[in-house]
Parts: sequence; C-alpha cells; structure tokens
Amino acid sequence: MVCMSTRRSFLFNGAAALAAGSLNTSMFAAGEETLSAWRPGMLDIHHISTGRGNSALMIMPDGTTMLIDAGALHRNTPYVIDEKPNASRRPGEWIGRYVKRQLEAAKLEGIDAFMNTHLHDDHLGELTAGLPDAPGGGYKLTGITDVAQIVPVKRFVDRAWPDYNYPAAGVFPLNAPFIANYRAFLAAQVKAGSTVERFKPGSNTQFGLKKPGSYPNFEIRNLIANGEVWTGQGSATKKLFPDVAGMKPEDLPSENCCSCAIRVKYGNFGYYTGGDLPSGTNYGRDPWRDVETPAAEACGPVSVAVFNHHGYYDAEGPGYVRALRPRVFVLMAWDSAHPTVNTLAAVYSKAIYPGERDVFATALKPELKITNKRTADFKSSNGHVVVRVEEGGERFKVAVVTNADESGKVIGNFGPYPSA
Ligand SMILES: [Zn+2]
Repeated sequence: MVCMSTRRSFLFNGAAALAAGSLNTSMFAAGEETLSAWRPGMLDIHHISTGRGNSALMIMPDGTTMLIDAGALHRNTPYVIDEKPNASRRPGEWIGRYVKRQLEAAKLEGIDAFMNTHLHDDHLGELTAGLPDAPGGGYKLTGITDVAQIVPVKRFVDRAWPDYNYPAAGVFPLNAPFIANYRAFLAAQVKAGSTVERFKPGSNTQFGLKKPGSYPNFEIRNLIANGEVWTGQGSATKKLFPDVAGMKPEDLPSENCCSCAIRVKYGNFGYYTGGDLPSGTNYGRDPWRDVETPAAEACGPVSVAVFNHHGYYDAEGPGYVRALRPRVFVLMAWDSAHPTVNTLAAVYSKAIYPGERDVFATALKPELKITNKRTADFKSSNGHVVVRVEEGGERFKVAVVTNADESGKVIGNFGPYPSA
C-alpha cells in the first residue's frame, strides 16, 4: 500500500510538472519570492490581512474582479489584533492599496463588483471620531468608502438595498450611523454612475464573468441571503426564518443570520464564503437560527472554505464541516476569540470527514497560542492568504504573502492541491 501511494503521488507530481510546463510555468514554481501576476485563465482569491476585518479580492479567469467585504475596525481594545501592516493608514486604505497593486500587475482596471456579505462594520467599515470626510463631503472614509477612493467600484451588491428595512425597519444595525454613512456613500456612487443591487439568493447570473461563456466551467452561485436558501433546483429558494412580521426586536433574525453566501466553481475547484452565518440555535430553542448548515448543504463539497463568523463559538458546526469537507480552510480573524476551541475541534475532526485539511489564518491574536493551542496546527497564522487556481480548475495552490509591509514577499508556498 505504501508503494502504491508513493507511486501514485510520483505520477501525479510528474503529470503536474508537465502540465505546469505547458500551461503556467510560474504558477507552481517552487519558492516564488513574490507572487507572479495573475494571467488569463487563472482564478486568484486574495484574503487580505489587515487584522481589522474581512476583505477578499477575486480575479476571475477572464479578468472580472470582485471584492467581497471591506471591513475596517478603528477601535483599540485589548481584544482586537494590531493593525497590519501598521496603524499609519486606515484598514480600508491598506485594502484599497493592496487591490490596486494586484490590478495593476494584472493590467486590469477597477473593481467590477463589490459584494457585502452583511451589514456589520468588520465587513463594511466602522464609524469612529476623527475619520476624514470624503473629498466633496457627504460621508466619512472607512472600509469600503476608503477602498473606492483608491480603486473605482462599478457595481455594489448587498442584502438590504434599497430600503434597508429587512428584517424590520429601524433595528440595529440598519439604524446605525455607519450604515447611514454607507448609504450616503452609495447614493454618491450612484450619482457618479455606479449601480447598486440587492443580493439574489439562488441566482447563478448575478455574479460571474464579464465575458459569459469564455470559461464555461466557471460559475458563481448565490447560496443564501436573509434566510432564503438555494434549493439546488434551478434558481429556486426556500425560506428558513419564521414570519418576521410582528416579531419583537430581540427575537428577529440577527444580522449574522441574514448573511449572504456564495459558491465559486471552476471545473473541479469549489470555494465557499458566507460572511458570519452561524449555526447557533440558542442552545436548541430556535432551530431556525442554524442557517450555516442549510447553506453548506446547498453548496456541497468544496476545495476551499472560508470560516463563517471568523471561527467564533456559534459557527463551524458539524453540519458545515460535513457538507463542505474542504481540503483548505481560510480564517479571517480580528479578535482574541477568533477562533474558539470548539470550532477548531470540529474543523479538524476526522470523525466528521476523514480527509487531510490545511488551515490558514490571515492573522491571529498572539495570546491564542496559549488559550487555543490547536492554532499551532495552522499552516500559517499571519499574512495575506492567496488561493491560486490553475487554468481549467484542476489544481490550486496557496501562497502566504507578508502583511508586514507592501513588498508582496511570499513567506509560504503550499500545494499544489488537486481540486476535488
Ligand atoms: Zn464579522
């Protein structure tokens, strides 16, 4: 058996070397010092490390670009991770500059679509005292509004446009000043020619290639938003929440429960990302609050999965791990409880699925080495986590890029992994 598996991996590597030679010479080059620029046919997904919220840039095989979230926390409490690379700029500025460098290297212009998973400041931008006004006024610079100053955004998609009244008007965070700031920004963007849409659960056409059909085995499927999950049949959906009309504010589905999730497919490669979807049910009292499991089941197995809710205690339940069973997990962390002990137990559990798995974190609070020792098993715990899928989607690799500065230096190369 040992010989068999050795021989198989030898053959796989041999075939891989040939494929790499004929397709993307530099994609799997050992020890790349900086990540080579995206080229047509590749799918790149950059999980940008600021230590202060979620943001991921996707460059699709035809050059279509999408930014998923642009979180920016400015607060300084003992619980948050120190700013990456440092506090000389706001997190939204670091994100914008990172995106701009990738687009320039790839000879691409602008962000084609910004998708906000849900309306929290670690995914959009916190409003704190002392932030500058946008040029021309009207709103403050934070998170996505900072990014858009650096890289223009053509289209915005979120879960609540245009009324921002689901699950109920005037409840938190819909009534929060940072949402008012975001809406003022959107109004200015629309005036300037950008468009805004509401996320459509079940759709496989809201996001995707600018040149549809240029890579027929590429697809982005919208899995869930506002508790409405894709059934797997056409673009049909079903509702998971009880009727919210007349619910007391404290009983309404939380903002996290309303998160949007998508699945990206490229040949055999699959990717899941779903904001802060939880599986916590108030300890069994409210089974409908487990939105993570139905979303993961609608998605099915993937190659790479992003942790829901930063690995917090109420996410990464066994249903999520079992349905997605990824080879690679990516954790975007900003707090001392990202991740918690129970979520890592599930993520690493071979009782849930037997396969190997590697976990990469964009950042970790150093104290977690003591309080959550399983984090020692992470392949990486500090740096931008870049998933690069080769043309056709059969294999991918993970490059970890330094977050200590803007040099783009690669500090870790992992893979190639076969997509399955
Ligand atoms: Zn969050």
